[in-house]
Parts: sequence; structure tokens; C-alpha cells
Amino acid sequence: MDFNIYYDIKNNGKNEYIRTNYNLVQNYIEEAQKYYNLKYNTKTKETSIIYPFRVGEFVLYLLSNNPSFDSKTNIQIDFIKQYLEECTINNKYFTINIFLSFIRDVLQIPELVCSIQYYSSNYYSDIDISSGLNKKNIKTRLFAFERNVNKISIDKTYICNSIIMFILVSLFEILNNGYKINKCINCGNLFINNGIDTNTQYCNYISPQNKNKSCFKYRKTASFQEIRKNNEIYNIHNSIYNLLNKRRKRAEEKSNEDISYMNDKLVKECQEALDNFRDWYFEKTKEYKNRNLTKEQFINLLEEQYIKYRREKNNGSTRNNKE
Ligand SMILES: [Zn+2]
Repeated sequence: MDFNIYYDIKNNGKNEYIRTNYNLVQNYIEEAQKYYNLKYNTKTKETSIIYPFRVGEFVLYLLSNNPSFDSKTNIQIDFIKQYLEECTINNKYFTINIFLSFIRDVLQIPELVCSIQYYSSNYYSDIDISSGLNKKNIKTRLFAFERNVNKISIDKTYICNSIIMFILVSLFEILNNGYKINKCINCGNLFINNGIDTNTQYCNYISPQNKNKSCFKYRKTASFQEIRKNNEIYNIHNSIYNLLNKRRKRAEEKSNEDISYMNDKLVKECQEALDNFRDWYFEKTKEYKNRNLTKEQFINLLEEQYIKYRREKNNGSTRNNKE
């Protein structure tokens, strides 16, 4: 298939505009526009106008939403996602040198090709150039440029003929502009950190819990209970913890009521189960935070634990009944 993706970088690397005749990419652009709408709405109130993305936004949307292209492209996208995941944990990997080495050695792409770029400036000094070039002329011009450096903007257009090349060029622009990539703790999506809020842990886009609030606003305004209610991991953890804690309390009560009742062993067992679960949860949370465990995997493991402890509890009670 013959297609091109025209990737315009404007406003000194602040905005990107994507034009393409590639239908699949067009669909992803429309989805991404919807996803990023929240932020633009608050700024402009107009929803019908198509807004440009901030540089890198589209590629991060694309990568966060498991796009499906041909198999070779999908494999390369997977490698790129793994690379970015590592970068969100350790920012030192997110440099132009390491990025280009990654492209060459891991993706086996020797160079960023298929791109044409041009620069333009929206500032022109008002010096008359009809007299032709001379030393004074250049010096005066440079002086004027330097004085008006804020008015000069660099626009570029990359013409990419593969989706991978587009992704790489966009990531290159993120790097080139000194932006960082963060992973939102609330929704798990990647987002651009423009360097102003270096410690931002939450993205500014639609939160999975509330369509009218960004992850950042959601975490800022939601009550602790609300966050807990929407946090599946914490919920299952609580169920298990409560189960084990109740069991221990009951064993303790029985032991206190009747000294002849040999329940000390059971109390000890219950306490051990609780401690073990606490340690286990601590370790798994670490793995989850380091992205060695996905949310789904964590929830599955927690559910397994829940089933396991419930079964143990039932065995325990039948044993008690026999006694
Ligand atoms: Zn988020």
C-alpha cells in the first residue's frame, strides 16, 4: 500500500499536525482527538474544531492503545513500547544517543530515513536587503535575530512512508525538544512531561473513573474512599486482609474464652497467614510499581490468593467443628 504520513512540527516544537491518506492512521487520529478533547475543551469551549496535538501526543496515544498493523510492524511497536516502559522507570535511557542506538541495534533500522524537513521563520528583520550582502549587513541581521529570538519559530515537516518511521520521528521530536515521557499512575498511559512539572505522576487526560475529570483532577478531588472504591487492587487486598484479620480475632477470642481449648496453635497460624499475606502484598506491589506486573496480572494473583485463603478458612472451620 502506498501512503504517506505528513508530520508537521510547529510553534517551536510545541505542536504537531498529522495529515495522511492512510485510513487506519486517520481512524487512530480521530480516536486520539476524542481522548485528548478534555484538555482542549477546557481551554477553548469549542468542540467542533480539530485541534493540533502537542508534540508526541499522538504517538503516545497510539502506543498506549495497542494498535494493530502488519505483523512486522506490530513486533517493532512492541519493542518500542518496551523501550519506553524502561524509560519511564529510568529516565537516563531516554536520550537521543541511546534512542538512536536502540533503533539501530534492536529495531535493525540503520538510519532515520524517508524524512524531508524544512525550516521556516515567522520573523523577518526589517532591514532592506536590496543592497546585497555585506559583512555589516550580516552582523546587523544576526543582532536583530538575536534580539527577536522569541519571535522566530521553526517549523518542520517529515514525510514518513511507514508507521514505524512516523513513530520514531515523533519520539525523536519528543527527545529533541527535551520533553520526558511519564507513565500515569492512575490510568497507566504514557504522557508527555514538558519539563515544567517534573514530578507529575498523573496525566491531564480523561480518567478511567470519571469521564469529566482528568487523572490529575480526579486524584486531586476524589475522596480517599472514592479512590479506594475505584481501585480494584486495593479492594481485593482489603477483602483478603479483612478475611485473615477476622479469622485471627476469632481465634484469639476463642483462646481467651476457654484456656483449656487448645487454640494457641490456630492463633499462631492465623497471625502467620496475615503476616505472610502482608509480605506477599508488599513484594507484589513493588513488582507492580516497577512495571514487572500488569494491573490485570496483579488482580489475577490477588484473586488466586483470595480463593486460596477462603478455602483454608473453610478447611479450618470444618476441622474446628470436628474437635
Ligand atoms: Zn492518567
